[in-house]
Amino acid sequence: MKSSFLRLLVLCVLAASCLLPASGTAADAYPTRPIVLVVPFSAGGPTDTVARILAGTMSKTLRQSVVVENRDGAGGIIGAGYVARARPDGYTFLLHHNGMATSRALYRDLPFDALKSFEYIGQIVDVPMTLVARSDLPPNDMKALVAYLHANRDKINLAHAGPGSASHMCAMQLRATLGLQLTTVSFKGTAPAMVALLGGHVDLLCDQTTQTLSYIRSKRVKLYGTTARTHISSLPSAPTLAEGGLKDFEVIVWHGIYAPKGTPKPVLDTFGNALRQALKDPAVLKRLHELGGEPVSDQKVTPAGLRDWLKAEIDKWTPLIQSESGYLD
Ligand code: ASP
Repeated sequence: MKSSFLRLLVLCVLAASCLLPASGTAADAYPTRPIVLVVPFSAGGPTDTVARILAGTMSKTLRQSVVVENRDGAGGIIGAGYVARARPDGYTFLLHHNGMATSRALYRDLPFDALKSFEYIGQIVDVPMTLVARSDLPPNDMKALVAYLHANRDKINLAHAGPGSASHMCAMQLRATLGLQLTTVSFKGTAPAMVALLGGHVDLLCDQTTQTLSYIRSKRVKLYGTTARTHISSLPSAPTLAEGGLKDFEVIVWHGIYAPKGTPKPVLDTFGNALRQALKDPAVLKRLHELGGEPVSDQKVTPAGLRDWLKAEIDKWTPLIQSESGYLD
């Protein structure tokens, strides 16, 4: 009885050592199957577009498909929560934007902690936003729009991509700056919000140039201004919203890639190097530039660069969101 137990024990130990490769082997071989890059907003929208541009190039570097998966809803919380709970094995990553910082200030109870539930890979690109309207909204410039909004405060609505999304933060700032409780309409991303705007079902939308440039250029939407502090190269003649009378108005959308906490360091390094390589690829840079993206410094495309930026953004948005909570819905 005793000897058969011992034999069983020896067999178990041998089987386990065969199943578990010697340390380093798994990481050396990584990746051996497709990698999922979760986008917490709808397919076809600005965040999704950045992810798909990167995924193509990173798939070639990593010699495995990087598959973009949209887990949209709740301003990015559903997707971020999904990745926080995913196995930390290097096969699930998250591409998120400012929402990683703003959600912390907005919600008391989140399914993740932006500062504790993730490993950080690096930042990607900065993108300005634009305030656009359905093409038949009467005002033709920001000054006229402000007067129009005051006169029609009960009729106008603002679309956004859910609480904490960049479009929501922009809408909140607009309402707070004007002191107007304009109605907001929430979508799972700004791709469906743009469809609603083009169809004339909503009036205004603040969204990244990643999505709006082509609609602005083809005049399918009306542009009132950009959210950067200075004129942007993709729309050089467009006024900033601050120039249009909205004092100190500024929203820049930044993006970062995260992995579930506990993902092994060699895996993080491999994925991070593929990201850094993609951001040096002239075809990727050209595409991002065409969409209004501004490259970030090499220092930002690092784990520390993303973590430090995220902390600074949490510190920036938390008091702002709390002081303007009357304009949050
Ligand atoms: N542009 C969106 C936002 O407002 C998100 C998206 O659909 O990419 O945050």
